[in-house]
Amino acid sequence: MIQLSFADIGPVIIEESACVALNSYRQKRFEFEKAGVVAGFKDADGAWHISRVMPPSKNNKASRNWVYRDKASAQRFIDREFRNSSGLVNYLGEWHTHPCVNPKPSGDDKQMLTDLLRSSVMAIDFLIGIIVAETGNACCWAQRYTKDDIIIYPQQDFRLEK
Ligand SMILES: [Zn+2]
Repeated sequence: MIQLSFADIGPVIIEESACVALNSYRQKRFEFEKAGVVAGFKDADGAWHISRVMPPSKNNKASRNWVYRDKASAQRFIDREFRNSSGLVNYLGEWHTHPCVNPKPSGDDKQMLTDLLRSSVMAIDFLIGIIVAETGNACCWAQRYTKDDIIIYPQQDFRLEK
């Protein structure tokens, strides 16, 4: 379990099962980038839990250093998680891999979350981004939509395995 915190959003907990899943999707040598969505819920203390990680879809388009995750399969995943949890678990953000040691979101990665925040109808006003490196290093950042702007919270680094 990884516990992070972002101002105005609060604690963000990446549950152990989600860490195990993300770690299993690490990009190996010669593999293309992988991507999917993450889902979770807010607990009674106001902490956000990332509890579900979508496996990379076969319908994604990718190369060694870019990936477009398939929209329809992500929507199906979120709908199914929402149904199976009686409406508790919902869309919280995006994960993808980078073929590197020290992951950091690219300009395109931040733009993707900005576009999603501007175009999606959601119960939350923020999105979480997670990048998984080849080595088990990972980073998480957040972006929040306000009436004036998109706020980008700096990345926090962690390891997916001990
Ligand atoms: Zn990226």
